[in-house]
Amino acid sequence: VIAGPEPFEPIAAPPMPTPRAPIRVLPASVSARIAAGETIERPASAVKELAENAIDAGARSIRIDIRGGGLGSIRVGDDGCGIRAADLWLACQRHATSKLPPDGLDAVRTLGFRGEALPSIAAVSDLEIISCADESGLGWRLAMRGGDVLHDEPAPRPRGTTVTVRRIFERMPARLAAMQPRAELTQIGQTVRRLAAAAPQVQFTLWIDDRLALQTSGGGDPGQVLTEIYGADTASALLPLGPVEIAGARLSGVIAGPEFTRAGRGAVHLCVNGRATGSRALMAAMEAAWRPLLPRGRHPVLAVHLDVPAGRVDVNVHPAKEEVRLRDEREIAAALARMIRDALGRQPIPLAAPPLTGLAALLADASLAEKHAHDDFGPDAPIVTAGLPPLRLIGQVDHKLLLLEGDGALFLVDQHRAHERILFERMRAAQTSGPRQLADPLLFEVRSQRAARFAARLDDLAAIGFTVETFGGRTFLLRAAPDLPGVLGAGDAALDGLGERHGLIETLLDLADDPAGEGEEWQDRLLVSLACRGAVRRGRELPMPAMRALVEALGATGSPAVCPHGSPLLMRIGTDVLSRQFGW
Ligand code: ADP
Ligand code: MG
Repeated sequence: VIAGPEPFEPIAAPPMPTPRAPIRVLPASVSARIAAGETIERPASAVKELAENAIDAGARSIRIDIRGGGLGSIRVGDDGCGIRAADLWLACQRHATSKLPPDGLDAVRTLGFRGEALPSIAAVSDLEIISCADESGLGWRLAMRGGDVLHDEPAPRPRGTTVTVRRIFERMPARLAAMQPRAELTQIGQTVRRLAAAAPQVQFTLWIDDRLALQTSGGGDPGQVLTEIYGADTASALLPLGPVEIAGARLSGVIAGPEFTRAGRGAVHLCVNGRATGSRALMAAMEAAWRPLLPRGRHPVLAVHLDVPAGRVDVNVHPAKEEVRLRDEREIAAALARMIRDALGRQPIPLAAPPLTGLAALLADASLAEKHAHDDFGPDAPIVTAGLPPLRLIGQVDHKLLLLEGDGALFLVDQHRAHERILFERMRAAQTSGPRQLADPLLFEVRSQRAARFAARLDDLAAIGFTVETFGGRTFLLRAAPDLPGVLGAGDAALDGLGERHGLIETLLDLADDPAGEGEEWQDRLLVSLACRGAVRRGRELPMPAMRALVEALGATGSPAVCPHGSPLLMRIGTDVLSRQFGW
């Protein structure tokens, strides 16, 4: 069930960005349009700007040396196209850049384009640049302090550039006093990981106080970079995402499966045309996709690469370029979410603490199910499904749990969460298979304050398989809905009437009221709430045939071990645990 490492699509090196285009000062008409003020707030901002310059210069290899958390020194060396001696001084002037394409800002494909980084760094530090723009080995060195040139002289160097930043913020004692080397180092580490994940075709080496802290191979494989950054354990958990083409964009990437998650979002790398970005809309869509499929509160190790034509993305909306604006953002967000669901939705969720461990391995053994596929059918026959081992139903405990036995273990199933999982997956399936017409449509009335808001959500509802029509005034008609076994009579007699039909309409109405969230995110939240409120409650006594039907339907879902909120629903008590507890 868990896919091994697969060959991922390598990320091609970007076309060399007009390498030796002359550096010129941006015309005022352009500089006025630039999102204001790239400021160097901390050492990590300098590292980011310098490494981005190296990437823009077509470097294949970038070496970063940090001392004293960057407060001592920062040095970034590359093997890129270099800067001609005659251009060195100009490169450090405000709004001087070689990157403005002839057809203007909209055609920018480089990471930089504002000509602000070097002057901003020079303003707060002692800056030294040694660079050579050809194969002669004869480079040039320019050293500056404040606005003054300290050195301007020949210096040997192979093609490429080395920038050294010393005494950063020393002229700003208040800011310097507020900085802790250790905290700055954390930021620098995160910055380099982000850059490296976004540029798998570039080799990054990070040295911290002469200790090798991180090295990537620069082979172009996004999965390999994640492994190099987050450790070898990641490799076995990686699942491919896409590639998918949508709205002129190409989406691809890798995600680590549920057995390898993290507490924070730091390992979520979203890259648009090679730029690490935090686009809120895309992040929200992705998060909504993994939330129900990963353990509660956990985040994935993930790299998504989006390639879009330059004219369809605006990178000039944020001072530090942390956000980008995409055309067709909703469509792309939806495709991203789908990609993540497709990859994670097939993975069994390993439950956290004993006695829950070992379940993933057990679920993975599909051969067990096959062995029993031809067993007799009868009320006592084991329930055989694709996703669970063959299980014999023993009964209900406390009107909350189903008790089953199989594979030398006892199993407890939370009846409410199991039904939730089933409803959630049926509704999601209806997004592709289309809704089912209800034999007897449901007519309902909405309070007048709510009616308009509800009417505005009808498209969103249709997108997830609920056909609702206005029936005049405040009355609506639910004509078609996804197959919801046990709620809307999906032809499964054993489950009929089990769930909360009333809860369904109430939830539709409540969420229609919820102004937060749009499109996929809203739809996803609606699905989770619908599943929750439609599912059979704990405390309800269930007849045997209904319990059997629940387990059968649960075993047919993609994630039979967690509910859509991410809570466990299936507990295994193995003989190992029993022998320990009983002292056998
Ligand atoms: P921007 O990157 O927005 O153009 P910068 O101030 O960062 O502005 O750099 C100014 C110019 O200096 C760049 O346009 C580029 O021509 C040159 N430059 C800076 N760093 C490098 C480098 N590592 N290799 C080659 N050229 C560089
Ligand atoms: Mg730059």
